[in-house]
Amino acid sequence: MIELPVVERKPEWLRVKLPVGQTYRSVRQIVDQYRLHTICESGNCPNMGECWGAGTATFMILGNVCTRSCSFCAVATGRPTELDHEEPQRVAEAVRLMGVKHCVITSVNRDELKDGGAEIWAATIREVRHASPSTTLETLIPDFKARWENLYTVLTERPEVVSHNMETVQRLYRLVRPQAKYSRSLEQIQRTRAEGLRTKSGIMLGLGETTNEVYQAMDDLLEHGCEILTLGQYLRPTKNHLALAEYIHPDVFAHYKEVALEKGFLYCESGPLVRSSYHAEKHLI
Ligand code: SF4
Repeated sequence: MIELPVVERKPEWLRVKLPVGQTYRSVRQIVDQYRLHTICESGNCPNMGECWGAGTATFMILGNVCTRSCSFCAVATGRPTELDHEEPQRVAEAVRLMGVKHCVITSVNRDELKDGGAEIWAATIREVRHASPSTTLETLIPDFKARWENLYTVLTERPEVVSHNMETVQRLYRLVRPQAKYSRSLEQIQRTRAEGLRTKSGIMLGLGETTNEVYQAMDDLLEHGCEILTLGQYLRPTKNHLALAEYIHPDVFAHYKEVALEKGFLYCESGPLVRSSYHAEKHLI
């Protein structure tokens, strides 16, 4: 038998439940019926068994092809060809059928569009609100390449939580998010907070960042008005993606959570399987 390097062997704390059950199947059916994408599937999320089994999923709008090529991400990179103006209604109908109290929506980057997809974003929020007036919304949105008028098109719809993931520490940006900028992402969060909206961000661990770099990222986020933080383990989607540097022990995640709360975050979800949208309903506070 071939021995994998230690770093490639998944520790037991990353073992997850297999996707099964009636609720899982009904989420599957709604996603298929309304021809929707989810980051759960497109991002190979390990929590599908738990989240879909509990009747929740994170829709990914604006297609399934991203204009950026982040080295950690399983979503396909390329030049998207279409804009689906009926997608907002289909998302809204799916959310209504699922009956979720809190709904998380994300998107690919559409840097080729003048509005970066902001109009579809705003329409999606409006349609979900119309179809499910009591459902709260969390939008995990891009940086819109610093075309801030597009950010405001989304913020005007006032989702309950606005999330924008830093993904990693400053030093690793060129490697992990080559088309993004650390300072630009911080500015996006600062502008969102200045509009009086609840702000949230996430960082993946295990990419080779140091403890001090994680602390620095926390400080930078707090300084720019970020209120909620998620920390999770990076998992390499395929051998073509960025190599994993290390598996972070659950005790270290627990320590980071303590530090984050001490530093001033209102809420921190920290653990190997935490993803931005994991247990998101708790982040409404
Ligand atoms: S953690 Fe988020 S992306 Fe993963 S399965 Fe749950 S809802 Fe989907």
